[in-house]
Formats: sequence, structure tokens, C-alpha cells
Amino acid sequence: MYNIVLFGPPGAGKGTQSEKLIEKYGLTHLSTGDLFRKHLGEGTELGQLAKKYMNEGRLVPDEVVIGMVEDKINDTKDARGFIFDGFPRTTAQAKALDEMLSHHNLEINGMIALDVPEDVLRVRIKERGKTSNRADDQDDEKINTRIKVYLDETLPVADYYASQGKFKKINGVGEIEQIFLDITSVIDSY
Ligand code: AMP
Repeated sequence: MYNIVLFGPPGAGKGTQSEKLIEKYGLTHLSTGDLFRKHLGEGTELGQLAKKYMNEGRLVPDEVVIGMVEDKINDTKDARGFIFDGFPRTTAQAKALDEMLSHHNLEINGMIALDVPEDVLRVRIKERGKTSNRADDQDDEKINTRIKVYLDETLPVADYYASQGKFKKINGVGEIEQIFLDITSVIDSY
């Protein structure tokens, strides 16, 4: 049973690596960005609420995200563990996650951060925007906001896990397969 936070800025490769990790370890993928896009597509109230934040590249308020994650954890029966992708993005979210997991006698094994320089991120996000249909992948201003929000609000989450001895940074540039191997060697050491 592993509960892993896959961390990194937008465009770091969290989604790509999550897919491979799910296949190898049989974990449940919990991507808050994917959940919000699903709600948006289905036109739910939650989707409507999240829409303006997502369109501007800003964070959806903590209580909304935390409630959605709590529902997803409670609804997932017999999970072998979770890969948290795009969550937690604030220290308040990280604390709430610890609290939620403790109700199930679970905890985060570790955070794995994909390290990718800003210029590479910009190229990757724009490239993804050609096929992702995501407005927030196609507009320079939105991309700038997302990177700034990551630096200002999300980066402190790494310190939160580092202070618990649960933080590991790996190089996120290069062959997808090599990056995957580096991630698996961290997971296999848990
Ligand atoms: P992502 O697919 O992870 O890049 O998320 C897309 C957008 O969804 C973000 O730019 C935010 O507007 C919103 N979002 C996703 N996850 C979170 C989160 N943990 N906290 C706040 N907003 C989030």
C-alpha cells in the first residue's frame, strides 16, 4: 500500500508518469485537475464554481478542492493506494490530506517532485495545448499565471513534506522511461 504525492509545476510530466505508475503498482489515480475537468464537462455545480479559477490559471479555493478529494477517497473502496497528482497545492491542502488519511489509518509515504526548468515547462505546455483542448495550455498569460501560482503558493508544500523527511526530488527532463525508472526506485525504497 503506497500513498504518493507526485509533485511538480504544470507541464512537469505528472500525468504521463501517473499513468505508468498506476499500471505498475495498481494504484488509484487522484488528479484534482482531471476531476475538475470532468465536473466542468458534465456541467455540475462544482464544475461551474471551478471554471473561472481554472480559466484564469488560479487555484480553486481550498475548501472546494478538499471536499472533492475527501469524497473521492471515501468513494474509492479497496484501493491499493493513491497517486495524488496536482494535489495538495497549498500547505492547507497538505494538512487536510494528512487528516483525511488518518481517518482511514493511512498516511503519505512520500512526495516525489519532478524537477523541470521553466523554459522547458513553457515549451511542453504549449505543445500539449495543441491537442489537450485546454484553454489554460494555450494562452501565454494563463501559463505565466499558473507558473507564478506554483512558485508562490504550491512550492511551500515541498517544505511541508521535507520537514517530515518525505521529500525526494528527481530530474524530470529526458526520456520518459528513465524518469519512470528513477521514480520507481524511490517508491521501491519506501
Ligand atoms: P492541473 O490539471 O493539475 O494543471 O489543474 C488545472 C487547474 O485546476 C488548475 O490551474 C487549478 O485552477 C485547478 N486545480 C487543480 N488542482 C487544484 C488544487 N489542488 N487546488 C486548487 N486548484 C486546483
